[in-house]
Amino acid sequence: GSTIGILGGGQLGRMMAMSAAQLGYHTIGYAPEGDNVSGPVNDDFVTAAWDDGEALASFAARCDVVTWEFENVPVDTARAIPADKIFPGPLALETAQDRLTEKRFIEGLGGRPAAYAKVDSSLDLVAAVDRLGAPGILKTRRDGYDGKGQWRIGSSRDADALRFPDVPCVYEGFVEFDAEFSVILVRGQDGEIRFWDSTRNVHEGGILAASHFPAGNSVSEQVAPARELARKVADALKYVGVLTLEFFATHEGPIFNEMAPRVHNSGHWTIEGAATSQFENHIRAVAGLPLGDTRTTASAVEMRNIIGSEIDGAHALLKDNAAHLHDYGKAEASEGRKMGHVTRLFLDTRG
Ligand code: ATP
Ligand code: MG
Ligand code: MG
Repeated sequence: GSTIGILGGGQLGRMMAMSAAQLGYHTIGYAPEGDNVSGPVNDDFVTAAWDDGEALASFAARCDVVTWEFENVPVDTARAIPADKIFPGPLALETAQDRLTEKRFIEGLGGRPAAYAKVDSSLDLVAAVDRLGAPGILKTRRDGYDGKGQWRIGSSRDADALRFPDVPCVYEGFVEFDAEFSVILVRGQDGEIRFWDSTRNVHEGGILAASHFPAGNSVSEQVAPARELARKVADALKYVGVLTLEFFATHEGPIFNEMAPRVHNSGHWTIEGAATSQFENHIRAVAGLPLGDTRTTASAVEMRNIIGSEIDGAHALLKDNAAHLHDYGKAEASEGRKMGHVTRLFLDTRG
């Protein structure tokens, strides 16, 4: 069989590896010390720095194809893998790693992000708040996830009082949205694109709490233009694999929030709720196999994240006949950490 390398050591890699195993592939993980938090499904894991050229070269030599599960893999690491072996290509990482680059790229394709300004200092922030108004959110351009590296700005007073983080940022106007949703697609090596149904995503404290299908009218009316943008993004990047775009549904249509060049938390429901999961189709795409049917197979699906100590006793959730539990096997249940998820499937009961 062939071998698939996965850069990153989190739960997304674990779930990818489970799909890869089903298809007969061997997987090897790669991440720096301390980043292998979700445990591999086998013992084949390389623990080395992202810039360890020797370790990367021998990892790449052992793999037929390499992908990533973590969007902050340094671009140079991805570029160190032979270009005909890494999917998606490093350009997707480069574009999505910097919120400013990403917003400009989206505008270039005709998409609409929230009003934003480049902000590199306290003075810039005050000027941005003057120009775009408040409330808004200051975000670091790089390295944020789960709402980390973000500050709510309620007024220009807040802008004055904030101790400015010492890194490049963007300020975004706060979007009054009806709902949040994501578009998840898979693009094959031949350029074929398939979409999963969009879910309505509910965030609490900047972290995804739940995804719901059906997503409701406010979302379903806006899925078509959102997909059109997502398709342009995937084609422009010659993307191979699963790609996610997050949107705000507003009365003026879909506003682009951000993209993730990878499988996505809001797609975990596809493991049980779709004919082919995002993880399986990602593996199929990067391995050059035909893509699987993305249709939803249940009449309703709900995915809920299990955060921090909620994981204790989570097996009890299985008393619910509709529930499927996923425990990522993380050793430490620190606050705000994604420890697992539970998907509840509602099947049509006919007759
Ligand atoms: P992820 O874990 O999805 O990568 P992240 O840390 O990159 O998250 P964002 O997606 O930028 O964070 O923001 C997290 C959440 O905060 C959003 O899903 C949304 O609920 C809220 N949010 C972010 N930006 C805005 C905005 N401009 N207007 C309104 N709400 C926002
Ligand atoms: Mg993000
Ligand atoms: Mg997000």
